[in-house]
Amino acid sequence: MSQHPSHDPSCIFCRISAGEIPAQKVYEDEHMVAFRDIRPRAPLHILLIPRQHIPSMAELRPEHAALVGHLLVKAGDLVRAEGYTDGFRTVANTGRVGCQEVYHLHFHVLAADAPLGVPPTFEL
Ligand code: 5GP
Ligand code: ZN
Repeated sequence: MSQHPSHDPSCIFCRISAGEIPAQKVYEDEHMVAFRDIRPRAPLHILLIPRQHIPSMAELRPEHAALVGHLLVKAGDLVRAEGYTDGFRTVANTGRVGCQEVYHLHFHVLAADAPLGVPPTFEL
C-alpha cells in the first residue's frame, strides 16, 4: 500500500517511535507517537508523528488520509491534557523551502498561556 518502508533504521523519529532513542513521550498508540520537542520554542512544544515512515507532507497520498486525520484530531486532546485551554499552533515544515530538518512527517503543536505572536522569521 505504501511505497515507503514502515520503519527506516536511519531515521531518528522512526527510532523514537520504536523506543530505540529516548524521548519524553506524552502519548502513543498503534498508529502514532507524540513527544516533547528537544528544543522547545514555546512552553508546550510537542511533535506528533505517525509510526509509519512517511518523509513529509509532500508524500501524502489518499490512503494516508485517515492516519493524518487521527494525528490532527489528537492534537487538541493532548493540548488540553497539558492544561492549555485557549488555543494552540500547528505547523508542518515541508521540504527544502519549508526548512524541514527531519524527514519523517511530523506536526509541531505549540501552546502557551499568552498569544505566541508572530516570529521575526518564518523559522520554527
Ligand atoms: P523540522 O524543522 O523538521 O520541522 O523540525 C524538527 C524538530 O525536531 C525540531 O524542532 C527539533 O528540535 C526536533 N528534534 C530533532 N531531533 C530530535 C530528537 O532527537 N528528539 C526530539 N525530542 N526532538 C528532536
Ligand atoms: Zn522515519
